[in-house]
Amino acid sequence: FPGAARLPDSGSARMLDINELFRDEFSVLEEARAAAANATLPADACREELLVLALRYQRLIRESYRLISRSDRAERELNRINEQLQQLASQLEYEATHDPLTAVFNRSAIINQINQALRQGDVALILLDIDHFKRINDEHGHPMGDKVICSLVARIRRAVPDFAAIGRVGGEEFTILLPEARIEDAMITAGYIHASLNASPLDVLPGQLVTASIGVSLGSRGSDFESLYSAADTALYSAKHRGRNQVALDDAFFRDAC
Ligand code: GH3
Ligand code: MG
Ligand code: MG
Repeated sequence: FPGAARLPDSGSARMLDINELFRDEFSVLEEARAAAANATLPADACREELLVLALRYQRLIRESYRLISRSDRAERELNRINEQLQQLASQLEYEATHDPLTAVFNRSAIINQINQALRQGDVALILLDIDHFKRINDEHGHPMGDKVICSLVARIRRAVPDFAAIGRVGGEEFTILLPEARIEDAMITAGYIHASLNASPLDVLPGQLVTASIGVSLGSRGSDFESLYSAADTALYSAKHRGRNQVALDDAFFRDAC
């Protein structure tokens, strides 16, 4: 027998003494060898001795099987716990980055995404705020207000391209991030949202149209969320000021055009 072998131990190989690991088995074999080599032992006594040793060896083998199956069970249990942990980690990650009411990105997650997108290229931002939402809450109750928010987000989802990231930045205020988009594309998308809200009332509130005011801005590569958001917010304010239910573009584009 070689004196030692390498067995895996939590990722690192550890030297284990095989003689130590199978001490009992080796001692039975040693005794069997000694009995076989003992020339003075009568044949009957020798056979008796070997039978006893064979029984002991059988017991050891049974015990080894038991240990192996116990370690298999422990490994399966470990794998199961590992899977549960991974599921829990992705659930926590989801909850930390998503709004529980609408399932779009929450404020901090969308800010991170916008800043990340700005490190890679120009970014168009659409900022949307529901018109007279307080009235909806007052007239139909807060739970209906929540349903209106969800239903409106579903409309937004259908109106924007797949690569757009929607975020809830305030109670009834949403951003739509369009990475590497031109301002013309952002205006078209904002127009789709506006048209889709005006096409028909939301299913949850069939008796009245729910509209929104929309501001659009463009941030160049290297700028940050604050300046992009502030430009979109100023445009949104203009849309509200001019009578709501409309899309307004960041003033900077008009200044540049003059
Ligand atoms: P405006 O057209 O000027 O935007 O008018 P508004 O009434 O929508 O504006 P304002 O921002 O003053 O009011 C927004 C209201 O939205 C106030 C708040 O009670 C309500 N709100 C904020 N978050 C939620 C929410 O999660 N659920 C419901 N139901 N209401 C919310
Ligand atoms: Mg608001
Ligand atoms: Mg509002």
